[in-house]
Amino acid sequence: MLGRFSIRFRLTAWYSLSLAVVLGLLAVASYFAMRASMYRAVDVDLRFSLAGVAQFLKSQQGSTLSELPDEIGRKSTLGVLFQIFDDQGKLVYQSDGLASHHIKPVAPTASGTAIVYRETGPEGWPVRLAAQRVTFRGQPIVVEVAQPMRFHYASLREFATSLLISLPLLVVIAAFVGYWLSGRALAPVNRIVEDARAIDSHRLSQRLSVPAAHDELRRLSETLNSMLDRIEVSVTRIKQFTADASHELRAPVTLIQAAAEYTLRRERTREELVEAMEKILRESRRTSQLIDSLLLLARADADEEVLQPAPVCVDSVLRDAVDRAREFAAGKNIRLAAAISEDALHVNGEAALLERLFFVLIENGIKYTPENGSVSVALRSSPDEVVVEVSDTGIGIAPEDLPHVFDRFWRADKARSREMGGTGLGLSIAKWIVEKSGGTIRVESAVGHGSKFEIRFPKLQNDRTLTTSQS
Ligand code: ADP
Repeated sequence: MLGRFSIRFRLTAWYSLSLAVVLGLLAVASYFAMRASMYRAVDVDLRFSLAGVAQFLKSQQGSTLSELPDEIGRKSTLGVLFQIFDDQGKLVYQSDGLASHHIKPVAPTASGTAIVYRETGPEGWPVRLAAQRVTFRGQPIVVEVAQPMRFHYASLREFATSLLISLPLLVVIAAFVGYWLSGRALAPVNRIVEDARAIDSHRLSQRLSVPAAHDELRRLSETLNSMLDRIEVSVTRIKQFTADASHELRAPVTLIQAAAEYTLRRERTREELVEAMEKILRESRRTSQLIDSLLLLARADADEEVLQPAPVCVDSVLRDAVDRAREFAAGKNIRLAAAISEDALHVNGEAALLERLFFVLIENGIKYTPENGSVSVALRSSPDEVVVEVSDTGIGIAPEDLPHVFDRFWRADKARSREMGGTGLGLSIAKWIVEKSGGTIRVESAVGHGSKFEIRFPKLQNDRTLTTSQS
């Protein structure tokens, strides 16, 4: 119900409510404690009076029970309100003070020697009485002393009234103080809200102000700021990717358009037409390859390309990739050597994607190796890893370029890559496939000497493979 209100209001409401409950319980407890201690004090007084009267009766052993009232009247030094009943419950004596309180002379039910307490008296004149059986000249009688309770009750009522007035007052004061305090404590939240409102996709570099105090709100703004850092990096990367993708797509389309317009400008011989068509076909193939890579990366980013991890026989997939690349290598007069372990080695992954990964690496090796060079492919395994190595004797990669080779659209030499039909996306797709298969990829290279790409996959044990394929 309180959910509709501000945190400040809810905090104050809960705080005031709990304070009211605690103070209420405290007030009830202190009222009853006060009442109990009042009764205790009265009862102590009554017991003293009883002892006094008993002492007096002992000193009067010379008189009979019927002479007793006169004796008491004569001495009347006790100053105590009391009454005496005989064994039959008949009133023998009642002190004047007690009579003036209009106490009915009804005998208490005192038996044995235990003190019996009771409260009686007309409206407005309550008294508390304590009775005890004693013997007077061998005859059992009941002595009962009294204490007026009027003033005690009045002070108890006064105490209750002051509690009833001060308690709500205290809660109201505490609520105001609490409201003010929670306002102060929550002030940084308003600042965070204002800062957050000012941030949009055009002002992603702005950050929330961080409160000075080392508290939860500081942690909150720091956490939100680091989240904004990550969002900014991703948005910048997406913007860069979109810009690069449009640029890359525009280049072949412009080339296709230019080739078509140039050819149509005048009558062309059959050879000229074939040449133009081949150029257009080459660029269309490149465009469709680029679109294909872009789609794969877009799905990878959206996490749509969910791999159905199944045990894949890496050796046969690697052999297929090598066979596919043979013609390309032969065309460039490059020796393509493969040392692939005869054992059936299994990793978790998707065969088509793994073949694409191996092909990208082998094709790159061939592309970036001058004629008469060589590219070697090796597959080996350790007890828990399957390692694939693709090395070449090509142009190599400069040390400062190594950290960028897996970036999207990054190419050491744009013109050269384009000329070879490259899109700058091969290695970023390769890295994604490796990571999705639970592996790692790294590259070593020396300019002018060649490069070596090494991929490590967690190895699936054969018995596990059998179980999986049987299930
Ligand atoms: P591309 O389509 O341009 O080959 P990749 O993502 O596959 O795109 O590679 C990115 C860049 O890394 C290449 O343009 C090239 O500069 C460099 N590169 C990749 N493989 C090799 C290699 N085997 N030898 C030298 N340079 C390489």
